[in-house]
Amino acid sequence: MAKDQYLVIGGSGFLGRHIVDQLRARGDSVSIFDIVQRYHDVPFFSGDITDESAIASALKQSGTTCIIHTASPPAGLTDGSIYMKVNVDGTRAVIDAAIACGVRKLVFTSSAGVIFNGTDIIDVDERLPYPDVPLDAYNDSKAKAEALVIASNGKGGLLTVALRPAGIFGPGDRQCMSGLYQVYENNQTHFQIGDNTNMMDWTYVGNVAKAHLLAADKLDLPPPAPPLSTLGKAPLSVEE
Ligand code: NAD
Repeated sequence: MAKDQYLVIGGSGFLGRHIVDQLRARGDSVSIFDIVQRYHDVPFFSGDITDESAIASALKQSGTTCIIHTASPPAGLTDGSIYMKVNVDGTRAVIDAAIACGVRKLVFTSSAGVIFNGTDIIDVDERLPYPDVPLDAYNDSKAKAEALVIASNGKGGLLTVALRPAGIFGPGDRQCMSGLYQVYENNQTHFQIGDNTNMMDWTYVGNVAKAHLLAADKLDLPPPAPPLSTLGKAPLSVEE
């Protein structure tokens, strides 16, 4: 099978950069689409994901067969409308451009926050529905964008998947550590929320990036056959 040509949307960001590095390290060909250019070692397309024609132009010029879409405004902004514009309208533009340009695969970075409404969730999987009341505008927009990505699976031959990382840490982070350091600087470390048994998932950025590569790799492979036991049939005996 021919190797994919990758476009990492948001490839100048924290997670996006790790995805770009891992693709390059295994010999894949990759370009970046972003509003900001921070690196000059791969082809770069400057543009906003709310501009479908800019995305389509980058897809055509780069010959992209697989999009990894990690772009988003950071969480915590007071103006919620920016999330709807970039995450929802922008992701719709990415999907439309991908289908129009015959792209085969789209991997989308969602967020674990899309199913969080402030109460503990333990031992759940992706069948858990979205909460009736979203946590905030950021997570609401990530859920809507994710739903668009999943609904577009199969349209015009496009195969899609969405991943939901929890908190991401590691080299290049500009949100998590600076927030923690700010708490320290403000001498706020004597505050405790809850009874100190609160749990929060964190994942190393290299592992989140690897998950995106694996998702892209698996998207166009046929799923493994279900075990015969789940079909109510005895396994075939194999004679030597
Ligand atoms: P980041 O801010 O470091 O990177 C995001 C990139 O997207 C930036 O380079 C930015 O310039 C680009 N971008 C923003 N708006 C754009 C637009 N309109 N058009 C084109 N590019 C645009 O963020 P990150 O921490 O690397 O997060 C990456 C993804 O992971 C996001 O989708 C985020 O929602 C998701 N996520 C992050 C965390 C976390 O803890 N950092 C947790 C869960 C999910």
